[in-house]
Amino acid sequence: MTIHTFVQVAVPVPLRQLFTYSIPQELQSQTLVSGQLVEVPFGNRHLVAMVIETNPAIDSTIDLGKIKPITRVFTHQHQLPQSIIKLLHTAANYYSHPIGEVIQYALPVLMRQEEPEPLEQITYWRTTSETLEAGLEQINVKRSPKQGELFALLFSHTQLTWPEIRTLGFSKTQLEALVSKALIEPYQKPIIPLNWDNECINTADKHHLTAEQAITVSSITTTLDQYACHLVHGITGSGKTEVYLQVMEQVLAKSKQVLVLVPEIGLTPQMLARFEQRFNVPIFLHHSGLNDKERFTTWCQAHQGQAAIVIGTRSALFTPLAQLGLIIVDEEHDTSFKQQDSFRYNGRDLAIVRANQGAIPIVLGSATPSFESLANANSGKYFYHQLTQRPGKSVKAKLSLVDINNQQLSSGLAASTIRDIEQVLARKEQVLVFLNRRGFAPAINCKECHWVADCTRCNRPYTLHKNQGLLICHHCNSQKRIPHQCPSCGSIRLTPVGQGTEQVEQWLEQHFNDKSIVRIDRDSTRRKGELAKRLEQINQGEHHILIGTQMLAKGHHFPNVTLVVMLDIDGALFSFDYRAAEHMAQQLEQVAGRAGRASKPGKVLIQTQYPQHPLLMQLVSEGYSEFAKQGLEERQWAKLPPFGHQALIRAEANKPHLPEQFLRDISQLSFGSDIAGPMPAAMEKKAGKFRFHLLFQAANRKVVHQDLHTLIAFAKQHPLANKVRWSIDVDPIDL
Ligand code: ADP
Ligand code: ZN
Ligand code: ZN
Repeated sequence: MTIHTFVQVAVPVPLRQLFTYSIPQELQSQTLVSGQLVEVPFGNRHLVAMVIETNPAIDSTIDLGKIKPITRVFTHQHQLPQSIIKLLHTAANYYSHPIGEVIQYALPVLMRQEEPEPLEQITYWRTTSETLEAGLEQINVKRSPKQGELFALLFSHTQLTWPEIRTLGFSKTQLEALVSKALIEPYQKPIIPLNWDNECINTADKHHLTAEQAITVSSITTTLDQYACHLVHGITGSGKTEVYLQVMEQVLAKSKQVLVLVPEIGLTPQMLARFEQRFNVPIFLHHSGLNDKERFTTWCQAHQGQAAIVIGTRSALFTPLAQLGLIIVDEEHDTSFKQQDSFRYNGRDLAIVRANQGAIPIVLGSATPSFESLANANSGKYFYHQLTQRPGKSVKAKLSLVDINNQQLSSGLAASTIRDIEQVLARKEQVLVFLNRRGFAPAINCKECHWVADCTRCNRPYTLHKNQGLLICHHCNSQKRIPHQCPSCGSIRLTPVGQGTEQVEQWLEQHFNDKSIVRIDRDSTRRKGELAKRLEQINQGEHHILIGTQMLAKGHHFPNVTLVVMLDIDGALFSFDYRAAEHMAQQLEQVAGRAGRASKPGKVLIQTQYPQHPLLMQLVSEGYSEFAKQGLEERQWAKLPPFGHQALIRAEANKPHLPEQFLRDISQLSFGSDIAGPMPAAMEKKAGKFRFHLLFQAANRKVVHQDLHTLIAFAKQHPLANKVRWSIDVDPIDL
């Protein structure tokens, strides 16, 4: 064994480089390997860093005497595997983000601590009674229906842990109630790694595939031993999840693991429920609703090969898996896959990189694929599979436009829309009203002098939150009391402008006073468990009208909803953001997909002032695919992504001239890309900071990356570099 005297490590600091340290005599008995954690002195601190190179070439100009020794070697058994280090390197390079910060982001918090507690055995819960009925008899199911449900769940699933039970919407109290009745008990059992190929499937609910599904499954499963990217474009309810399940079955049968990424924590319960129902294998979760210890458990179980399936949000992508055989990215078009601060990566794109590096297949699924993915399918980079039918009787909802120009509006609802709502309610079916703006009104102003209550830190109107009695800035979260008088002219005629979900809810409650109305947005579901509770009530048919923001548009199925009303989508038609129309179309299709899931046909009303707008007309008459085709042609013509490549340099400071000057100096350098700016950000001021952008764009990705290197070298030693906060956003999605 060779003894190395130097190592190169990644330190969690915002610098785009590795650092060389020496290994002191007393530590040389320990073999250092790449991926191991060490403690190093850095400035006047000690930081936890990761060994990258164990035998680096030392630059001859370096004064060896100045190299500092590492101060400690972490001895825990868990090391980041080389495959993940490679992925993180690629990510750091691609997104021009400091490698030390990327690694820190990807590591479980507990790994970075001195000595993580040894992992306890996994505790599962099981029922004690012989039959389901015998157990349920001991529960007062009328009074405690959730206890009954939990008992039934545990009766049919023997491999549930507390984090999973909680994710599925049950509380600790419900669990403890069953324990105190001695109806359930905890147990532990060792999991033999990578051992679930026998009888892992519950075939009871397995469907006989439709022709489209069968073709898709067989195409994907012919690529199980190689890299291949499959785009599954299937309308809501077309059975994409069933396709995932049947592909997963074959991967699990080979004793391999599956990683499933969903855009948001809110979508994990339903995935988990479907997977639990089908597979009798250890499933672990990774999302922000878990604590550090629970997340570390998932990490270890995946790494050691005990977890058969890992379901998580974007950062789950960095979980090491002993025998990863397949990655699935559900709702791949969703912009939540992109992290919007510090390490600005796109989880879907890195998942594709991971699949490629690991030589495994990846499946991207969506009812409304992103334009990027469609372009890759068109060019033959991805396999493209279409699911156009819904199995069973249900049919897709029909979209139609409601011209609001000559109609009376009540809190944003057109008279004709209200008549439609009345008819649906008379048939005892449900209505969903979609408005992507929470609060009561997006602004208040003075009727006399037109003064508007603006947040001075953002120069944008405050949103009125009547229920809370507050004005809240949706950009920086600052709050203040609602004024009684106009501070400018003293008038008391202060009135709300425009509508938010609170206002529509209030109007509906007054107008349909014998109906039950439920609102689902970030405000109404802030309390833990509230969202699950409301969704459950909706599915039990307790509410007649659902009003909500995009929280309602994602993933949830409302079989009894037969009318969807979309309010206030016009903004997207005239946005400066070239992606706005794509996102609007995706949202429309997604919301429309919530309706008419059962055998009842659904209808979608889109209220607009511009019923003649070509984009809207095309979407309504020809559907998303044609819309996307047209949109892609326009992008190609304008050389916009995915036909051009972009990077955005953001800079902000307390004074506007600083970021502007900083970016102007950068823009003077010689670059291969086209440069736009410096220009003020769409929100020029946010939370008291002035923000400017510089946009790089080129037909060739390499040109942009080359320019970023030039820029970084220059920016590092620019006199303003310490006075402005600046960052790089590769493939930006909000400009
Ligand atoms: P998606 O993920 O595309 O929204 P799902 O996989 O959830 O669609 O399927 C929608 C519904 O259709 C589910 O209730 C599912 O059980 C059912 N389903 C899926 N595939 C089939 C099939 N081949 N035959 C009958 N029902 C199916
Ligand atoms: Zn006034
Ligand atoms: Zn603000």
